[in-house]
This record gives sequence, structure tokens and C-alpha cells, in this order.
Amino acid sequence: MQAITRMERSNLRSTFMSLERADVAIVGGGIIGSGLASALSREGLDVVVIDPHPGLGSSLGNAGLVVPSYSTPMSTPGNLWEGVKSFGSDHAPVTFSRPLGLETLKFLASFAAASRPGRVKRDTAKLHSMATRSLQRYHELQDSGLDLGLTVQGWLWLSTSQGNRDALRGDSERMQSAGAKCEVVNRAQADELQPGLGSEVSGGIWFPDEAFLDPEAASRRWLQDAMDHGARLIRAEVTGYRKQGERITDLTTTEGDLGAKQVVLATGADSRAAGRLLDIRVPVEPGYGWSVTLSDPQNQLNRALMGIEDHVVISPMPGRVRITGGMRFGAASGADPADRDIAKLREHAAAVVPALADLEELTRWQGARPMTASGVPIIECRGFDNLVVAAGHGPLGVTLAPITVDLAKELVTAGLSAARTR
Ligand SMILES: Cc1cc2nc3c(=O)[nH]c(=O)nc-3n(C[C@H](O)[C@H](O)[C@H](O)COP(=O)(O)OP(=O)(O)OC[C@H]3O[C@@H](n4cnc5c(N)ncnc54)[C@H](O)[C@@H]3O)c2cc1C
Repeated sequence: MQAITRMERSNLRSTFMSLERADVAIVGGGIIGSGLASALSREGLDVVVIDPHPGLGSSLGNAGLVVPSYSTPMSTPGNLWEGVKSFGSDHAPVTFSRPLGLETLKFLASFAAASRPGRVKRDTAKLHSMATRSLQRYHELQDSGLDLGLTVQGWLWLSTSQGNRDALRGDSERMQSAGAKCEVVNRAQADELQPGLGSEVSGGIWFPDEAFLDPEAASRRWLQDAMDHGARLIRAEVTGYRKQGERITDLTTTEGDLGAKQVVLATGADSRAAGRLLDIRVPVEPGYGWSVTLSDPQNQLNRALMGIEDHVVISPMPGRVRITGGMRFGAASGADPADRDIAKLREHAAAVVPALADLEELTRWQGARPMTASGVPIIECRGFDNLVVAAGHGPLGVTLAPITVDLAKELVTAGLSAARTR
């Protein structure tokens, strides 16, 4: 963070004195906005990232998994039925803060519409192919010298329910048919992959090719790379815009105005509100989750794990372990996670690896997944001829970042060349 801050200061001082225009203004400096800023500035474009708190949105404390296997959208008939059955319960995998606002209710209606089996199959295939390409792009970025800290240690899903081998086989076959590489493992095989499992663990599903990175470090590294290639960061909030015909000419921000040829909205779970500032509809609903990071000096985990029944993810980080979970709609933004939510996460994780119960808590965090009803992100021109939206990545924003960067970069550069030939 230090290096960015020092550089920012000197860039910032000059920003509003000398720069009032940019080729591309990117609103949002999370993993998506930072990655795109890096790609566009490497093309020699004049890029400005505008964000009051870059890197401190959902890209901060998430589980950091790069997992094409997790491409089944949440909007499935099964999840819909579970949601209806458990509505009002605080113990269900998906919970709701009441009262639910009109926008959240509209989102849930679209979610139900997206749960039709044919549509789920189509969306799963689309997400899986995007995620697979994205993982490949992470490797290519790494090979090209841009090290975002990707490690491939595989992902092990573990079941604590007995006698569900048929269910595991069914899940595994369903994911294989969507293109995932995975296999069902018994308890002994699971022990080989991760020693120290709890007595209730009966087996699971093993995904050997899935990867992990520290999301905070990766977002910071990507933003730094953008700045190393000339991008500027303005720590400000976008509050509105000016237009001429079908084009945005300037963004108004809390630190002054900025003219831009192309504008990108990469505002994650804030995208509905940010869209409103630009008079466009961006149907993204925050799906709140939380994490607790524990000190683990002995690095007891050798790969990422997930409890199948409760969807609690346990990610190994150097000297630390992060436990992540929860999906709540309608919660107040910015609230800290409740003690009981963190206690539940720790309890679930300890059932999978009992030694985690003794680890000391370092930090806790709450953030929001930028959910679309179908699970497919919005990466398109929207509302104006020169506005690209890159948002709504739900539980897969880290996974889908590189492919999003490629697709959004194409839209931005096409927009710039179209404007030049006009
Ligand atoms: C508990 C949890 C676990 C997760 N685990 C994973 C995982 O393992 N793998 C995975 O792939 N994904 C995971 N995700 C999802 C992932 O975190 C998100 O999809 C991703 O971080 C979204 O990135 P982003 O850049 O779009 O948004 P953000 O990182 O939220 O960035 C958006 C930025 O926009 C800025 N902004 C908003 N409004 C304005 C404005 N008006 N003006 C200027 N700036 C503005 C904000 O300050 C913020 O910095 C998880 C999410 C949660 C909550």
C-alpha cells in the first residue's frame, strides 16, 4: 500500500492542476477496475481511476479463489426451493435482513425467473467457459512477468454428512458435464490431500486445477502496475456527469470534474447506486458475506477447502488462514459482521479442520458480492455511446477478472476508434 500511497500523493497533486481530461476514466479501483487500468495503460492510453477507497471494496477480504468449477449460478431451481423453505431463518445458507427494499424484491423476482432449468444450463456453460479462459489468462499474465500471486493448489470440497456418496457423485458428474475437472474422493483420499480433518468428514470432491491468490495483494499489485504505466488515481467519489447528445463528456467528482473520451463503471456491489448517478439502470444487488482471518504461523492448510453442506470456504495464506461465508440480501451496507456470524463461520470451519478452533483472530471483514439475477456479469456498453459497464461478478469477481479486463478493454478501444473515425 505504501508504494501506491507515495506515488498517488505526487500524482494527485498534479492531477487536478494539469489533467482535466483523460482517454479513459474508470470509476472503481477494485480488482476489475485496477486490472482494466493496467491493461489500458499498457496500451499507452491516458487512464484515470477514480475511487475514494481503492482496493477496499469486495476485493479486500474475500476468499481469493480462482475457481471455474464454481460456475453454477446461484439462481438454480434447487437454491430457489431452499430459499423459499428457509425464508426468515437465520440458519439457512442464504439469509435476508428485513424489511426487504423494493429493489431487493425486484432482484429476487428476476432471480426466480433466471432459475428456469434451460437458462441455468446455458448460464452455467457461459460462466464456466469465461472462468476457464480467465484462469488461463492469469497464467499468461504471470508468464508475462505480471505476478498477481496465483498459486495452483487445487480445491477440496468436504462433506460432513455420512452416506451421501451418491449425492457427491451426482454433483461431480454435473460439474464434469459443465467442463470441470474433478473427482469424488473418500475419507482416506481426503486425508492424503489435507491431514488433520475432523472426525465427521466423510469424503468430498477434489478439483486439482483450481487456484488461489491473495485478493487484496493482487488488486494492489494490478493498480500499482497501472500507475507504473502512467495511470493516475484520484481518490474521489463520482457524484454525477455532464453529457452532449449520447455521450458523457465529464464526470463530476468530490474533487472536481474530469473530462473523458470513454467511461467505465467498475463499481462492484455499488453499481446500482453508481448507475443511478449516471441515470442508467445497473441491476446489481449486494449479497453480503463475511470473513475472519486467523493467524496460522505453522501453515497447517496446504490447499483451499470448502464445507459442502454450509458453503464455508477455508483459504490458506502465508502465515494465515481465512474463513469465508454467508450470503445475506438486504443488509445495511458497510456494517461489520455480527459476532454470531463470525462464531458460526469458525464453528463450521472447526468441524472440517478442528485445529482451526485454536487459532487467534487477526481481522474480520464484511463485503458484498455484486450479484446479478442470472449470475452472468454485465460487461457491455450501456446507456451512452461511450460508457462501458463491467460489474455484477457475484461470487466470481476474482475468478473472472482477467477475462472481464479483456472484454472491457475491447469495448473501450472499439469506442475510442469509433470516436476517432466520426
Ligand atoms: C465473502 C465473499 C467471498 C468471496 N470470495 C470470492 C472468491 O473466492 N473468488 C472470487 O472469484 N470472488 C469472490 N468473491 C466475489 C468478489 O469479491 C467480487 O466479485 C469482486 O471483488 C468484485 O470486484 P469489483 O472490482 O467489481 O468490486 P469492488 O472490489 O467492490 O470495487 C468497486 C469499487 O468501486 C468504488 N466505487 C463505488 N461507487 C463509487 C463512486 N460513486 N465513485 C468512485 N468509486 C466508487 C468502491 O469504492 C470500490 O472500491 C467473494 C465476495 C465475498 C463478499
